[in-house]
Amino acid sequence: MINLKQFEVWFVTGSQHLYGPETLKKVAQHSQEIATFFDKSAKIPVTIVFKPVMKSPDEITNLCIDANSTKNCIGIITWCHTFSPSKMWINGLKILQRPILHLHTQYNRDLPWGEIDMDFMNLNQSAHGDREHGFIMTRMRISRKVVVGHWQEEDVLERIAVWTRAAAAWSDFQSAKIARFGDNMREVAVTEGDKVEAQIKFGLAVNGYGVGDLVKVVNEVTDAEIDKLVKEYVEIYQVSTEGKPGGAFYQNVRYQARIELGLTNFLESGGFKGFTTTFEDLYGLAQLPGLASQRLMAAGYGFGAEGDWKHAALVRALKVMGAGLKGGCSFMEDYTYHLNPNGMKVLGAHMLEICPSIAEGKSKLEVHPLGIGGKDAPARLVFNVPSGPAVNASLIDMGNRFRMIVNSVDCVAPEADLPKLPVARALWIPQPNLKVGAAAWIYAGGAHHTAFSQAVDAEYIEDFSEMAGIEFIHIGKDTSITELKKELKWNEMYYMLAKGL
Ligand code: MN
Repeated sequence: MINLKQFEVWFVTGSQHLYGPETLKKVAQHSQEIATFFDKSAKIPVTIVFKPVMKSPDEITNLCIDANSTKNCIGIITWCHTFSPSKMWINGLKILQRPILHLHTQYNRDLPWGEIDMDFMNLNQSAHGDREHGFIMTRMRISRKVVVGHWQEEDVLERIAVWTRAAAAWSDFQSAKIARFGDNMREVAVTEGDKVEAQIKFGLAVNGYGVGDLVKVVNEVTDAEIDKLVKEYVEIYQVSTEGKPGGAFYQNVRYQARIELGLTNFLESGGFKGFTTTFEDLYGLAQLPGLASQRLMAAGYGFGAEGDWKHAALVRALKVMGAGLKGGCSFMEDYTYHLNPNGMKVLGAHMLEICPSIAEGKSKLEVHPLGIGGKDAPARLVFNVPSGPAVNASLIDMGNRFRMIVNSVDCVAPEADLPKLPVARALWIPQPNLKVGAAAWIYAGGAHHTAFSQAVDAEYIEDFSEMAGIEFIHIGKDTSITELKKELKWNEMYYMLAKGL
């Protein structure tokens, strides 16, 4: 469902006519070589397109017009091999609506100590040319990512790769449609928000649909389609005896297959990238979509429970960023704590809806009654999550702006089996520790719902937030509550001033 190679990032080198055709020819050759190297790099998942060297204001303006109107162009990488006077860039940059990565590199890695002459000096000028280029973007208050280092260095490829993935997610986000089945969980604040502002800011379209519309397509699913899907379940998962043919809950498993097929039809035919449900509005559905929501997330859809459209969109964004990388991504909730001073940790889970892309080993398919909601016992996948680094990200509506909050966490194995817990769960230690991490999260106003990922880290979401022009708060190993409280207050001022009208 997510194909990053379809996205293009344009590699643009700034220069000017001053140097004469010989030097400009070399600049073009070198630039092409770098662009091809990036395009072929296994690390960089998008297509890198070489663009002819920019030598005049008109060329730059036309390039920016082209970038804006090329649908699959998701960003540009700029670099000044030589000196490119920045007034030439003003009109282009003024209209550019694509993210920028300013690559501060040099074609030659090493100084040719014994050979260096003025020809070398005139060709390899990025050390000062890129400063002129940086000035105009700072002067124009243009958000961008600056990456420094030789273009073949692993770290440079890594930073570029992260940014291209964030740019792909940002492009996807701007045309994303989220289907909201039913409304919000009654009286809950953080899952609400300004959907009109979200569309203005992000392009994200969130619209409500009656559960009856979904029930209609769910009921249209045929028994033959269900037979086929249940067979797939039996192959992929460890299905409990009750859930197998002849078992007491076999029909419940079949019903989730019915929901999955109906939901898929609904989402595909409407071109949706995510959806929300709410257990308070399931009229006409016999079960809360559990297994169905889990499997749709695994297929690449964003999901939010209880009407949480912001986290449905964020789960989708993190899935795009992490496509093809090791580790999965899921909707998540900080559920319950282990507050033993010898190792405080969070048990993350939800009523049912955790994505099996983060499962360790083979998932169990089980059916258990749900304590709330008054519906039939839903089928769900039960699993643990592998140890290692992860992030929890939350997008909240502050009333006058959106704030992105990310906590870097470390997933750990459960200290013992959890034989009676009938849901998928992750166990983690927030950075810098549970006390500071949770306090920082609460001061920042982070939701109880998050988008959880083991494929991406905070840098991806920082790049994404920069592109979206929203506030970004990172809670990590260096977080101090005193400093964070100041940051939140300063940001309040900055975003008020930066917003203008
Ligand atoms: Mn919830």
